[in-house]
Amino acid sequence: MRIKATLLATMAASALALSACGGGGSGPGASGGDSASPAVSYPVASNVALTGSPTYDKIKSAGKVVIGVKEDQPQLGFKDAITGERSGFDVEIARWTASTLGISPDKIEFKAIPSAQRESALSNGDVNLYVGTYSITDKRKKQVDFAGPYFVTGQGLLVKKDSSITGIDGMNGKTACSVTGSTPIQNIKDKYKQVKTTEFSTYSECVDALKNGQADAVTTDEAILLGYAAQDPDNLKTVGKPFSTEKYGVGLPKGDKALRTFVNKMFTDGKSTWTKIYDATLGKSGTKVEQPAVENY
Ligand code: GLU
Repeated sequence: MRIKATLLATMAASALALSACGGGGSGPGASGGDSASPAVSYPVASNVALTGSPTYDKIKSAGKVVIGVKEDQPQLGFKDAITGERSGFDVEIARWTASTLGISPDKIEFKAIPSAQRESALSNGDVNLYVGTYSITDKRKKQVDFAGPYFVTGQGLLVKKDSSITGIDGMNGKTACSVTGSTPIQNIKDKYKQVKTTEFSTYSECVDALKNGQADAVTTDEAILLGYAAQDPDNLKTVGKPFSTEKYGVGLPKGDKALRTFVNKMFTDGKSTWTKIYDATLGKSGTKVEQPAVENY
Protein backbone atom coordinates (compact mmCIF):
# COMPACT_ATOMS: atom_id res chain seq x y z
CA MET A 1 0.00 0.00 0.00
CA ARG A 2 2.75 2.41 0.97
CA ILE A 3 4.70 1.48 -2.17
CA LYS A 4 1.63 2.24 -4.26
CA ALA A 5 1.19 5.63 -2.62
CA THR A 6 4.84 6.49 -3.21
CA LEU A 7 4.60 5.43 -6.82
CA LEU A 8 1.49 7.54 -7.31
CA ALA A 9 3.19 10.52 -5.70
CA THR A 10 6.20 10.07 -7.97
CA MET A 11 3.96 9.80 -11.01
CA ALA A 12 2.08 12.94 -10.01
CA ALA A 13 5.35 14.79 -9.50
CA SER A 14 6.60 13.60 -12.89
CA ALA A 15 3.37 14.68 -14.56
CA LEU A 16 3.73 18.09 -12.94
CA ALA A 17 7.34 18.36 -14.03
CA LEU A 18 6.30 17.38 -17.54
CA SER A 19 3.54 19.94 -17.80
CA ALA A 20 5.74 22.58 -16.20
CA CYS A 21 8.43 22.25 -18.84
CA GLY A 22 5.85 21.35 -21.53
CA GLY A 23 7.12 23.48 -24.40
CA GLY A 24 5.69 21.31 -27.15
CA GLY A 25 6.24 18.02 -25.33
CA SER A 26 3.74 15.58 -26.72
CA GLY A 27 3.63 13.19 -23.77
CA PRO A 28 4.11 9.46 -24.09
CA GLY A 29 3.06 8.44 -27.59
CA ALA A 30 1.20 5.31 -28.59
CA SER A 31 4.33 3.66 -29.93
CA GLY A 32 6.00 2.68 -26.72
CA GLY A 33 5.93 5.89 -24.72
CA ASP A 34 8.44 8.07 -26.55
CA SER A 35 7.96 11.72 -25.80
CA ALA A 36 9.81 14.78 -26.89
CA SER A 37 10.89 17.40 -24.41
CA PRO A 38 14.24 18.52 -25.71
CA ALA A 39 16.62 20.13 -23.22
CA VAL A 40 17.51 22.64 -25.94
CA SER A 41 15.14 23.97 -28.58
CA TYR A 42 16.24 23.27 -32.12
CA PRO A 43 14.92 25.09 -35.17
CA VAL A 44 13.46 22.50 -37.52
CA ALA A 45 15.05 23.09 -40.94
CA SER A 46 12.59 23.75 -43.72
CA ASN A 47 14.75 23.86 -46.84
CA VAL A 48 17.04 20.91 -46.41
CA ALA A 49 19.68 20.87 -49.13
CA LEU A 50 20.67 17.22 -49.12
CA THR A 51 20.77 15.31 -52.36
CA GLY A 52 22.30 11.95 -53.14
CA SER A 53 21.58 10.48 -49.70
CA PRO A 54 19.54 7.26 -49.83
CA THR A 55 19.05 7.46 -46.04
CA TYR A 56 17.67 10.99 -46.20
CA ASP A 57 15.35 10.03 -49.08
CA LYS A 58 13.91 7.26 -46.87
CA ILE A 59 13.54 9.62 -43.89
CA LYS A 60 11.85 12.24 -46.04
CA SER A 61 9.31 9.90 -47.56
CA ALA A 62 8.55 8.32 -44.17
CA GLY A 63 8.16 11.78 -42.56
CA LYS A 64 10.04 10.44 -39.54
CA VAL A 65 13.50 9.32 -38.59
CA VAL A 66 14.35 6.10 -36.75
CA ILE A 67 17.30 6.65 -34.44
CA GLY A 68 19.05 3.92 -32.50
CA VAL A 69 19.98 4.89 -28.95
CA LYS A 70 20.81 3.57 -25.50
CA GLU A 71 18.20 3.98 -22.79
CA ASP A 72 19.92 2.81 -19.61
CA GLN A 73 22.85 5.23 -19.57
CA PRO A 74 22.03 8.21 -17.33
CA GLN A 75 23.12 11.61 -18.66
CA LEU A 76 23.85 10.14 -22.11
CA GLY A 77 20.98 8.01 -23.36
CA PHE A 78 18.29 7.43 -20.78
CA LYS A 79 14.57 6.68 -20.71
CA ASP A 80 12.59 7.43 -17.59
CA ALA A 81 10.57 4.30 -16.83
CA ILE A 82 7.63 6.27 -15.47
CA THR A 83 7.33 9.26 -17.80
CA GLY A 84 8.77 7.66 -20.93
CA GLU A 85 10.89 10.78 -21.24
CA ARG A 86 14.26 10.41 -22.95
CA SER A 87 17.19 12.51 -21.87
CA GLY A 88 20.92 12.86 -22.09
CA PHE A 89 23.68 14.23 -24.26
CA ASP A 90 23.31 11.59 -27.00
CA VAL A 91 19.52 11.95 -27.10
CA GLU A 92 19.97 15.71 -27.61
CA ILE A 93 22.54 15.13 -30.36
CA ALA A 94 19.92 12.88 -31.98
CA ARG A 95 17.22 15.58 -31.68
CA TRP A 96 19.56 18.22 -33.09
CA THR A 97 20.44 15.97 -36.05
CA ALA A 98 16.77 15.20 -36.74
CA SER A 99 15.86 18.91 -36.64
CA THR A 100 18.70 19.73 -39.01
CA LEU A 101 17.26 17.09 -41.35
CA GLY A 102 13.87 18.83 -41.17
CA ILE A 103 12.29 16.31 -38.77
CA SER A 104 10.87 17.72 -35.55
CA PRO A 105 11.87 15.94 -32.32
CA ASP A 106 8.36 14.50 -31.82
CA LYS A 107 8.71 12.67 -35.17
CA ILE A 108 11.73 10.71 -34.01
CA GLU A 109 11.18 7.03 -33.43
CA PHE A 110 13.82 6.02 -30.91
CA LYS A 111 14.89 2.37 -30.84
CA ALA A 112 17.03 0.95 -28.05
CA ILE A 113 19.81 -1.05 -29.70
CA PRO A 114 22.54 -2.68 -27.59
CA SER A 115 26.24 -2.25 -28.44
CA ALA A 116 26.61 -5.59 -30.21
CA GLN A 117 23.73 -4.91 -32.61
CA ARG A 118 24.62 -1.44 -33.85
CA GLU A 119 26.36 -2.37 -37.10
CA SER A 120 23.63 -4.82 -38.10
CA ALA A 121 20.81 -2.41 -37.16
CA LEU A 122 22.35 0.23 -39.44
CA SER A 123 23.07 -2.10 -42.33
CA ASN A 124 19.65 -3.84 -42.16
CA GLY A 125 17.88 -0.49 -42.21
CA ASP A 126 16.32 -1.10 -38.74
CA VAL A 127 17.54 2.39 -37.86
CA ASN A 128 18.42 5.35 -40.07
CA LEU A 129 21.02 6.72 -37.66
CA TYR A 130 22.60 5.66 -34.39
CA VAL A 131 23.55 7.98 -31.55
CA GLY A 132 24.67 6.11 -28.46
CA THR A 133 28.22 6.23 -27.06
CA TYR A 134 29.35 4.73 -30.37
CA SER A 135 33.12 4.81 -30.71
CA ILE A 136 34.54 5.41 -34.16
CA THR A 137 36.86 2.48 -34.96
CA ASP A 138 38.48 1.19 -38.15
CA LYS A 139 36.88 -2.20 -37.63
CA ARG A 140 33.38 -0.72 -37.42
CA LYS A 141 34.09 1.55 -40.38
CA LYS A 142 34.18 -1.58 -42.55
CA GLN A 143 30.43 -1.99 -41.91
CA VAL A 144 29.11 1.50 -41.12
CA ASP A 145 30.11 5.14 -41.50
CA PHE A 146 30.49 7.78 -38.82
CA ALA A 147 29.96 11.53 -38.66
CA GLY A 148 31.90 13.35 -35.98
CA PRO A 149 33.48 12.83 -33.55
CA TYR A 150 31.16 14.88 -31.37
CA PHE A 151 32.63 13.78 -28.01
CA VAL A 152 35.83 12.24 -26.67
CA THR A 153 36.14 10.14 -23.52
CA GLY A 154 38.23 7.19 -22.35
CA GLN A 155 37.84 3.82 -20.69
CA GLY A 156 37.60 3.86 -16.91
CA LEU A 157 36.49 1.78 -13.94
CA LEU A 158 33.43 1.89 -11.69
CA VAL A 159 33.75 0.11 -8.33
CA LYS A 160 31.84 -0.13 -5.07
CA LYS A 161 32.37 2.79 -2.73
CA ASP A 162 34.26 0.61 -0.22
CA SER A 163 36.48 -1.08 -2.85
CA SER A 164 40.27 -0.88 -2.50
CA ILE A 165 40.79 -0.96 -6.31
CA THR A 166 42.32 2.32 -7.46
CA GLY A 167 42.94 1.63 -11.15
CA ILE A 168 43.31 -0.98 -13.88
CA ASP A 169 46.65 -2.18 -12.41
CA GLY A 170 44.80 -3.37 -9.34
CA MET A 171 42.44 -5.53 -11.40
CA ASN A 172 44.77 -8.51 -11.97
CA GLY A 173 42.90 -11.70 -11.05
CA LYS A 174 39.73 -9.69 -10.51
CA THR A 175 36.58 -9.61 -12.65
CA ALA A 176 35.63 -6.70 -14.86
CA CYS A 177 32.14 -6.50 -16.30
CA SER A 178 31.49 -4.91 -19.67
CA VAL A 179 29.23 -5.20 -22.67
CA THR A 180 29.36 -7.67 -25.56
CA GLY A 181 30.54 -6.05 -28.79
CA SER A 182 31.95 -2.96 -27.06
CA THR A 183 35.46 -1.54 -27.41
CA PRO A 184 36.20 -1.72 -23.64
CA ILE A 185 35.55 -5.48 -23.36
CA GLN A 186 37.81 -6.01 -26.39
CA ASN A 187 40.50 -3.77 -24.91
CA ILE A 188 40.55 -5.82 -21.70
CA LYS A 189 40.72 -9.11 -23.63
CA ASP A 190 43.54 -7.81 -25.86
CA LYS A 191 45.69 -5.83 -23.45
CA TYR A 192 44.84 -6.82 -19.87
CA LYS A 193 44.88 -10.59 -20.03
CA GLN A 194 45.26 -11.00 -16.24
CA VAL A 195 41.85 -9.41 -15.78
CA LYS A 196 38.88 -11.79 -15.85
CA THR A 197 35.79 -10.67 -17.72
CA THR A 198 32.08 -11.14 -17.53
CA GLU A 199 29.76 -9.61 -20.09
CA PHE A 200 26.15 -8.60 -20.57
CA SER A 201 24.30 -6.77 -23.31
CA THR A 202 23.84 -3.54 -21.33
CA TYR A 203 25.89 -1.57 -18.80
CA SER A 204 23.05 -1.40 -16.29
CA GLU A 205 23.25 -5.21 -16.03
CA CYS A 206 26.96 -4.79 -15.27
CA VAL A 207 26.15 -2.26 -12.54
CA ASP A 208 23.78 -4.85 -11.01
CA ALA A 209 26.55 -7.48 -11.26
CA LEU A 210 28.92 -5.11 -9.46
CA LYS A 211 26.41 -4.44 -6.71
CA ASN A 212 25.66 -8.11 -6.11
CA GLY A 213 29.31 -9.13 -6.07
CA GLN A 214 29.49 -10.97 -9.42
CA ALA A 215 32.04 -8.41 -10.64
CA ASP A 216 34.73 -6.29 -8.96
CA ALA A 217 34.42 -3.42 -11.43
CA VAL A 218 32.43 -2.22 -14.41
CA THR A 219 34.62 -1.01 -17.23
CA THR A 220 33.57 1.24 -20.09
CA ASP A 221 33.80 4.90 -21.09
CA GLU A 222 34.22 7.28 -18.18
CA ALA A 223 31.34 9.42 -19.43
CA ILE A 224 29.02 6.42 -18.98
CA LEU A 225 30.44 5.40 -15.59
CA LEU A 226 30.14 8.93 -14.21
CA GLY A 227 26.41 8.79 -14.94
CA TYR A 228 25.99 5.61 -12.87
CA ALA A 229 28.15 6.97 -10.06
CA ALA A 230 26.10 10.19 -9.97
CA GLN A 231 22.90 8.14 -9.74
CA ASP A 232 24.13 6.20 -6.69
CA PRO A 233 26.97 8.15 -5.04
CA ASP A 234 26.54 6.37 -1.70
CA ASN A 235 27.46 3.00 -3.21
CA LEU A 236 29.52 3.61 -6.34
CA LYS A 237 32.64 5.53 -7.40
CA THR A 238 34.87 5.84 -10.47
CA VAL A 239 38.59 5.25 -10.01
CA GLY A 240 41.85 5.53 -11.95
CA LYS A 241 42.92 7.36 -15.07
CA PRO A 242 41.33 6.70 -18.47
CA PHE A 243 43.22 3.98 -20.33
CA SER A 244 41.87 4.34 -23.88
CA THR A 245 40.56 7.06 -26.18
CA GLU A 246 36.95 6.76 -27.31
CA LYS A 247 35.67 9.16 -29.95
CA TYR A 248 31.90 9.14 -30.32
CA GLY A 249 30.41 9.34 -33.79
CA VAL A 250 26.91 9.36 -35.24
CA GLY A 251 26.56 5.94 -36.86
CA LEU A 252 25.32 6.05 -40.46
CA PRO A 253 24.61 3.38 -43.08
CA LYS A 254 27.82 2.55 -44.95
CA GLY A 255 28.44 4.50 -48.12
CA ASP A 256 26.02 7.41 -47.51
CA LYS A 257 28.70 10.01 -48.04
CA ALA A 258 26.22 12.84 -48.67
CA LEU A 259 24.63 12.29 -45.24
CA ARG A 260 28.02 12.05 -43.53
CA THR A 261 29.14 15.34 -45.07
CA PHE A 262 25.82 16.93 -44.07
CA VAL A 263 26.04 15.85 -40.40
CA ASN A 264 29.71 16.83 -40.21
CA LYS A 265 28.76 20.28 -41.52
CA MET A 266 26.13 20.53 -38.75
CA PHE A 267 28.82 19.81 -36.15
CA THR A 268 31.23 22.29 -37.74
CA ASP A 269 28.69 25.12 -38.08
CA GLY A 270 26.80 24.42 -34.88
CA LYS A 271 29.39 24.99 -32.17
CA SER A 272 27.05 27.12 -30.09
CA THR A 273 24.32 24.46 -30.27
CA TRP A 274 26.82 21.79 -29.24
CA THR A 275 27.79 23.90 -26.21
CA LYS A 276 24.13 24.43 -25.26
CA ILE A 277 23.55 20.67 -25.45
CA TYR A 278 26.64 19.93 -23.38
CA ASP A 279 25.73 22.53 -20.75
CA ALA A 280 22.16 21.18 -20.49
CA THR A 281 23.31 17.57 -20.03
CA LEU A 282 26.82 16.31 -19.16
CA GLY A 283 28.02 19.79 -18.22
CA LYS A 284 25.48 20.02 -15.39
CA SER A 285 28.02 18.29 -13.16
CA GLY A 286 30.27 21.33 -13.55
CA THR A 287 32.80 19.83 -15.96
CA LYS A 288 33.70 21.88 -18.99
CA VAL A 289 35.02 20.43 -22.26
CA GLU A 290 35.42 21.71 -25.79
CA GLN A 291 33.71 20.19 -28.79
CA PRO A 292 36.24 18.01 -30.65
CA ALA A 293 37.13 18.85 -34.25
CA VAL A 294 35.26 16.90 -36.91
CA GLU A 295 37.37 14.32 -38.74
CA ASN A 296 36.26 14.01 -42.33
CA TYR A 297 37.51 10.81 -43.88
N1 GLU B 1 32.19 3.62 -26.65
C1 GLU B 1 32.36 2.23 -26.49
C2 GLU B 1 31.85 1.45 -27.68
O1 GLU B 1 31.39 2.02 -28.61
C3 GLU B 1 31.69 1.72 -25.22
C4 GLU B 1 30.29 2.19 -25.00
C5 GLU B 1 29.24 1.36 -25.68
O2 GLU B 1 29.31 0.12 -25.66
O3 GLU B 1 28.31 1.96 -26.20
O4 GLU B 1 31.94 0.27 -27.73
